[in-house]
Amino acid sequence: MPRRPSDEEILRAVERQLAGRRISTRLTDPGAASLSWESVLECEIHRSIEERGKESRRTAKGPLSRNGAIAERPTYTDLDAYVVEPPADPARRQVVHLVREGTLDEVPCGDCADGRKDCAACAGRGRTDCPPWIDCEACRGGPDTCWECDGTGTPRTRRARDGARPRKEGTRERAAECKRCHAADVACPKCSGDWRRECPACRGKGDVVCGTCDGDRRVEHKECDATGRLTVCTGATITHEPRRDTLPVKRHPGQLKTGDWYRATLTSPDDDLPDFLEDGHAKRLAPLLATRAREVRRHVTVALLPLARVETPADPDRVYYAFRLPSGDIKVIDRFSRQRKAALLWAAAAVVALAVTITLTVLR
Ligand SMILES: [Zn+2]
Ligand SMILES: [Zn+2]
Ligand SMILES: [Zn+2]
Ligand SMILES: [Zn+2]
Ligand SMILES: [Zn+2]
Repeated sequence: MPRRPSDEEILRAVERQLAGRRISTRLTDPGAASLSWESVLECEIHRSIEERGKESRRTAKGPLSRNGAIAERPTYTDLDAYVVEPPADPARRQVVHLVREGTLDEVPCGDCADGRKDCAACAGRGRTDCPPWIDCEACRGGPDTCWECDGTGTPRTRRARDGARPRKEGTRERAAECKRCHAADVACPKCSGDWRRECPACRGKGDVVCGTCDGDRRVEHKECDATGRLTVCTGATITHEPRRDTLPVKRHPGQLKTGDWYRATLTSPDDDLPDFLEDGHAKRLAPLLATRAREVRRHVTVALLPLARVETPADPDRVYYAFRLPSGDIKVIDRFSRQRKAALLWAAAAVVALAVTITLTVLR
């Protein structure tokens, strides 16, 4: 158990800190310093909250022979009286599935034939529709299909053809002989004036083998794991949910972590609070540590760092905080006092005001 620092130990340590700033004073003299205790209290509680689910009809894929885990679940006859030991560590979640005694059974799936059913993608046909023709990727059936016949096989007049010729003069694109009107050097080189091509997937047949059933027309029924059987039972689930709460704390300087903290662990709402607590601490902890509904286990850590606050007229700009380190030494840290912070703000404002004045003066 750490030894709580005495007021005198604290004041001596602050004196040494002041000496480092070339302020020499005896803080133990009357009126030389004011010391108050602002100890830091931390508390974290992990609870295990028991949730007892309602009894319900349950179904599992496949026959009982495949569901050894279900067959090995604990059974009950009176659910309300069934006790599940909460997890040893309340921060851990635990789920226990139970089966009502004598309800475990195996039934036909009823939604398939021997674990297989018609493929939904092709409605049991084994093939799915596919467009027999696709537009040529190069001309997309547009004006470039054939400058002579537009893919119709009937040539336009030469005048109209000149006007419609969409390719720029001088472009060195190859043109093919048109399959339809047989004019040379006018058609899309990809489709030769045919604008549509036979679909390569179905080769113009208009349907393809179904990708879902591979043409089998039937697929495995997932719901029964393709066995045609289901395992059924009546059961319930008892869950232990972890729940963590902490005492709301103010932000503290990180150095306090290095202090020699008092620590205690509690595991029951009936445990006595640790005796290192100070006045008012029990009252602060009471709402956090109150027993919650369905709480079945808890693990509480309480930590306290005795922290002294010292102010002295010898250094009115600073506030000193002191606490014990595990080595036994007293660590002193300081902060600017509130008055000092206000003074700095005023000084900053004054600098800005001066800068503005100078700027205005110069600009005039
Ligand atoms: Zn096709
Ligand atoms: Zn043509
Ligand atoms: Zn084409
Ligand atoms: Zn299919
Ligand atoms: Zn089935």
